[in-house]
Amino acid sequence: MNSTIKFLDLKDTTARCSGEIKEAVERVIDSGRYLHGEATEELERMLAETCETEFAVGVSNGLDAIRLILRANIELGRLKPGDKVIAPANTYIASILPIEEFGLRTLLIEPDPVSMNLDLKRAAEAAADPDVKAVIAVHLYGNPCWGEELNDLASRGIMIIEDNAQGIGARSATAGIHGTHATGGLGHAAAISFYPTKNVGALGDAGGVTTNDPELAGMIRTLANYGADRRYHNICCGYNCRMDEIQAAILGVKMRRLQEETKMRREAADTYLCHINRPGVILPHIARGDEAVWHQFVIRNPRRDELKSYLEANGVGTDIHYAVPPHKQPCFEGRFKESLPIAETMANEILSLPIANITPQQATRVAEIINSFQ
Ligand SMILES: *Cc1c(COP(=O)(O)O)cnc(C)c1O
Repeated sequence: MNSTIKFLDLKDTTARCSGEIKEAVERVIDSGRYLHGEATEELERMLAETCETEFAVGVSNGLDAIRLILRANIELGRLKPGDKVIAPANTYIASILPIEEFGLRTLLIEPDPVSMNLDLKRAAEAAADPDVKAVIAVHLYGNPCWGEELNDLASRGIMIIEDNAQGIGARSATAGIHGTHATGGLGHAAAISFYPTKNVGALGDAGGVTTNDPELAGMIRTLANYGADRRYHNICCGYNCRMDEIQAAILGVKMRRLQEETKMRREAADTYLCHINRPGVILPHIARGDEAVWHQFVIRNPRRDELKSYLEANGVGTDIHYAVPPHKQPCFEGRFKESLPIAETMANEILSLPIANITPQQATRVAEIINSFQ
């Protein structure tokens, strides 16, 4: 009865396909090709297919994917230091660090309290400022962040960059700028993270960029390889942001399991939505027709810390994504003056329940524990 339900057990996740992973790694070891090999090419094909884009570039991690997208746009003359970039105030700090790094100016916008994603109406209002040149649309918790407001902004020349770190496999009811529905292909370019805890996790770091823009894809590939567009020919001062072939091979195995893993997350989420009924606990809301991939299942309650302890005492692990919003981090002290009450209240009330690797029976038990919270 009292067996514990961990928030996330990566060892379990890996164990479900460890045989295939070991074979894939062995193939790379034996191939003698440890970067830019067949496994990376194959992963890029799978990534482009999932995101319904023409191009995908495997890179070192999700943060670098966002950095490369912004830097490539600067190299191509589409963004310049001083330009303003809209981002949701409740995102993970990695969405914002690259904006600040390149001297662009982050304009933090409150989340919509229902979707917990960027409030698109507020974003559209803020974009009336002629200095706003880009928006980072974060598919937070695996819930697609898209709407006609973003298509309108794109048609006015504003660049829409998706932070798809948590959204791989999700679909928006509203088509993106290219008429497709998969996240990662809705805007001009998207960043993906394969951090171990993400829905498709490497056994280490990896990331990717998806886009339909050949110029941007080419510049990102160049920047990720010291700025060389061909061997010993450096057209800009780039980085080393390549994806490891071994991680690509492991990710190939994980990508083939994405649909099955997503199905398990959806079953757990449906169980939570069906069974949690304690007054005062706010459940996540997915807009009609959208297909979320439930990177996190986030509930809200004003007595969050007590609820967290209560679940802990009953053997259920939880986590908070994220307890401190980026504008309250010490590294940005004095940088963002505005008070952002919606994001701040949300940070105090959110609680992430176990969602990966849990059975509907376990989810039912978690729901019953929540319902018995006094
Ligand atoms: C994980 C994550 C990132 C960063 O990805 P890394 O691969 O860890 O660098 C960026 N944005 C969001 C929303 C994330 O969840």
